[in-house]
Amino acid sequence: MTRLAQTLGLTEFQTEIVATVRQFVDKEVIPTAQELEHSDTYPQAIVDQMKDMGLFGLMIPEEYGGLGESLLTYALCVEELARGWMSVSGVINTHFIVAYMIRQHGTDAQKQKFLPRMATGETRGAFSMSEPELGSDVAAIRTRAVKQPDGDYVINGQKMWLTNGGSSTLVAALVRTDEGADKPHRNLTAFLVEKPTGFGEVVPGLTIPGKLDKLGYKGIDTTELIFDGYRASADDVLGGVTGQGFFQMMDGVEVGRVNVSARACGVGIRAFELAVRYAQQRETFGKPIAEHQAVAFQLAEMATKVEAAHLMMVNAARLKDSGERNDVAAGMAKYLASEFCSEVTQQSFRIHGGYGYSKEYEIERLMRDAPFLLIGEGTSEIQKNIISKRLLSDYQV
Ligand SMILES: Cc1cc2nc3c(=O)[nH]c(=O)nc-3n(C[C@H](O)[C@H](O)[C@H](O)COP(=O)(O)OP(=O)(O)OC[C@H]3O[C@@H](n4cnc5c(N)ncnc54)[C@H](O)[C@@H]3O)c2cc1C
Repeated sequence: MTRLAQTLGLTEFQTEIVATVRQFVDKEVIPTAQELEHSDTYPQAIVDQMKDMGLFGLMIPEEYGGLGESLLTYALCVEELARGWMSVSGVINTHFIVAYMIRQHGTDAQKQKFLPRMATGETRGAFSMSEPELGSDVAAIRTRAVKQPDGDYVINGQKMWLTNGGSSTLVAALVRTDEGADKPHRNLTAFLVEKPTGFGEVVPGLTIPGKLDKLGYKGIDTTELIFDGYRASADDVLGGVTGQGFFQMMDGVEVGRVNVSARACGVGIRAFELAVRYAQQRETFGKPIAEHQAVAFQLAEMATKVEAAHLMMVNAARLKDSGERNDVAAGMAKYLASEFCSEVTQQSFRIHGGYGYSKEYEIERLMRDAPFLLIGEGTSEIQKNIISKRLLSDYQV
């Protein structure tokens, strides 16, 4: 074994692009991440290079100017990016979900309008379901779009936790349209909202108040979004039909969960790499700490968790690529990878002793980044709800 998290059966192109992203991460991301993160600086130079590499269009079909690659290729690239810095993978995460939803559910006009510009990274996507009063309970969304006599919609309400809220130019926002369906989630509609980058009232009726101050996941912007009499046209409804938003967003979240698993794998791999190096350099009681069995066993446990998470993530991606529904596989992969990432990061931190608590060492950043993975795209409890519901249906007595 040369290194952990190898993937069997990749095409030549997949091998090549993953290796290219890895080299880019080693050369451009890892050496600068710590400084950019500590000063909460947007990684513009890194993002520009990601655009040049075509990473914003990885999964966008070739006919729209993208690379037309699979979810697996995308996830393996994300794993490499997150190994360097989780925030960098966050830059393409919401973009990828929005592009995927437009590809799967958009009208022809929406595909023609947005996908070519998304493939180059000129248009950048943000994904907005959460609100101040809700995250897990999506069907309880309060932001409301009311149809006007001229066919337009007027939207009012507050959205919360938009990753890339300020730096994006296209927000897929899930709001209530209340057109009389019997179940709350059938009254939700996804609107494609165009806006310029920046903060303040960026277009009439749409305000991005500013960056939220977070524990980790720094460098990229996470924001609120306030609709106050914002006017959307009927053409802005994703797929052109109201009441479909919940299903469209859940489809996006399903691939998003593979993406979060991949990010957890990347952070976990990096935590292991830091620990295995430090354990061979630091000496106590006359020998490297790696020679104390307690530390060596920690390394063995960490490596096993990294491998298991990677395999689950690859399995979930391949299932989706084969055209199968992957809700359970994606839920399991997300749950296991994020929990293992949290444990591996904590183990690496302990191996670093006091230095793990110093801002000079990379592991302190990973300790602040890893908890987000337990929450984003649905908490571990929500994954367990999805998994157990399906199990009880499939194993019904
Ligand atoms: C940095 C960051 C970036 C984010 N980016 C985005 C984004 O780009 N777009 C977006 O839409 N959202 C985003 N989110 C929001 C994220 O998806 C939500 O925070 C998450 O879904 C949890 O929702 P909540 O915070 O409202 O917690 P709640 O739903 O209030 O849950 C609170 C606690 O109760 C538990 N719980 C809730 N319901 C149940 C249940 N039925 N059974 C068992 N336990 C339950 C949860 O697991 C959790 O432990 C982001 C969040 C963060 C922190």
